[in-house]
Amino acid sequence: MKKCLLCQNHPADKKGSHIVPHFLSKRIDNEPGQTGRDKELGFVITEGSTSSYFGRSVQPEILKEIYGEVTDELIEENKVEGIEDHYFCSGCETRLSVVENEYAKTIEQATKTEQNYTSIEQPFVGFLFWISIIWRLSIQEYSGFKLKAKEEKKLRRIIDTYLKDSIEKITPNKKDIDLNDIGYKLIRAPKFSDTLSTWLHWSTIYERPYSIVIDEYILFLYFKKAHLKGMPLEFYGSERFKNQAEYVTPFKSETIFGITNVQYKTFSEKIALFGATKRMQFLSHKLDLLHHKLGGRGKRMNIQLKGEILKRIANSDVELGNKNTPENHIKIISETIVKLNKN
Ligand SMILES: [Zn+2]
Repeated sequence: MKKCLLCQNHPADKKGSHIVPHFLSKRIDNEPGQTGRDKELGFVITEGSTSSYFGRSVQPEILKEIYGEVTDELIEENKVEGIEDHYFCSGCETRLSVVENEYAKTIEQATKTEQNYTSIEQPFVGFLFWISIIWRLSIQEYSGFKLKAKEEKKLRRIIDTYLKDSIEKITPNKKDIDLNDIGYKLIRAPKFSDTLSTWLHWSTIYERPYSIVIDEYILFLYFKKAHLKGMPLEFYGSERFKNQAEYVTPFKSETIFGITNVQYKTFSEKIALFGATKRMQFLSHKLDLLHHKLGGRGKRMNIQLKGEILKRIANSDVELGNKNTPENHIKIISETIVKLNKN
């Protein structure tokens, strides 16, 4: 058996490890109104297509609504995102759960908006919690998120050194150089996720700081304090909140800058718009390539034909789970080409 990716010592015997802790991931991708395990119902949106996945206990009626026919093939190919087998040993999984359980308590506590509030008094717990998620996303194959190799190693060292089997034993060592120049800022729209949908999404460009949205939280991780003085980065319009958020180090209580639901909604709409624009650019480029391969004249597909294809993809009335799959795109493209050639 492979060795545990965290302690690099014991066999990675644990199955079903969450990359984003379950108490948070269920707020992002569970079937609406469901908070239990195996109730995931999520969509992975990439440039080219949207794929989806579902937990074992999602009701058949819901699956029918999303996929139309529920075939054996659909069930067989389904894999819940963000859950991995044989990454960690049981001991490390327990150590991770200690900070997760402690952090989970903060979800229901009092919050403030348009100012900073203290979310967790004990220094370092919030820090370990957030970097453990960032690190797990980075080591997860195909997550699409990757730290630089030395940053990934640093986070592993910190997590492995300081996670303990009880919360009282967790204390940062002031002399540890790994902890000296690292910190984060956190923004949150409290309770947004109780009624509205949220994201797991990050910038693939920004590293100073790494910028990522996890549920109703927006996290900025700094590997150097000097990056606080860096260029403004427009992470979907969150810059002004980031400027107001306090910088949290491993030696300070965690504070969060609260934003209103309306502010998060604007932020969220910008992410959706970005996704839609990327999708259109991607498809447009693919159609030009196709045009070229088919021996068409010029570098670009005829603008009317292209426009008709993109319109049909956007208006496709197949079930949600089948709409933005490569199969449906190909079907629409070939049907449209055949039809317009006949005219
Ligand atoms: Zn381990």
